[in-house]
Amino acid sequence: MTKFGAYPIVVNYNLHTRLRYQHDEDDLHRAGRYEDEKQLDIKVNTSSDSTRENGLFGQEIKEYEQTVSNCLRKIEGNAVGRMVMGLINKDTTVWIVPKSDEELKVKDQYNAMTWPLNYDIQKDGSIGRGAGAGDTVILFNPKLGDDTLLHELVHAYRYSYNKFRPVNVYYNTDVGAFTITSEEVLAHQIENIYMSQAKRPLTLDYMTQAPTEKKGIYDFLSNNYFLLQALKYFLRHEYLAMLAAHTFMSTEYNPFRDYEAIETEYVKGAFSSDLPELSVPLGR
Ligand SMILES: [Zn+2]
Repeated sequence: MTKFGAYPIVVNYNLHTRLRYQHDEDDLHRAGRYEDEKQLDIKVNTSSDSTRENGLFGQEIKEYEQTVSNCLRKIEGNAVGRMVMGLINKDTTVWIVPKSDEELKVKDQYNAMTWPLNYDIQKDGSIGRGAGAGDTVILFNPKLGDDTLLHELVHAYRYSYNKFRPVNVYYNTDVGAFTITSEEVLAHQIENIYMSQAKRPLTLDYMTQAPTEKKGIYDFLSNNYFLLQALKYFLRHEYLAMLAAHTFMSTEYNPFRDYEAIETEYVKGAFSSDLPELSVPLGR
């Protein structure tokens, strides 16, 4: 495993360990032994393949950990990325573990994922692992790119301070209506600011990922009441959003900095100028 600089981030190649214990985890889950299942999962995500099969996987390990470290270096080289990485709670650890090329090919699985290492066990026995706080696991394939990893690091940051509180947010685009969580709203916006900082192409929204320029995205935001509510909530309660608003002054795209102007556009076309912040429960 490779620790990345002074950040609380560890890149850990454990693919063979994970595949080896997948059955055991499934068996424990079916048997209702959820605590044992979780303890095994924690062990799997924090163990390296380097101890397996007499070092057979040395080359794979080196390749993955170097590639992901390069990806992290690219993120660190971007002021927005550096801010996100620097804000992650240093009393926690982010474990970046591999998603294989084969797993990436599975239908609807072309994505990365972040969840708490010591996740909250669901009382209904479901498999959901998204609730909890502290250390995190990011399942990541370098083919997904540094922009995706940055996005996942925003989730990891929120978990690291026990602030991950997904609330459903509804919005419309030209191609349809979607519901995502407030956490995806935040991660997608930070990702877009990161891309803008690097003068790379922006995307309209989390679901369609339609390439769109700043003005098109601001127009879209000013037409979506609940997205504005979410932005307003983060501006008032999320340090990362406040800091982004006051730090990246020369970055072209920055809806936190430009929030007032976007809300003013919304109010022009609205029946009421009342725009409350998103209501988010306090949590645990
Ligand atoms: Zn996400």
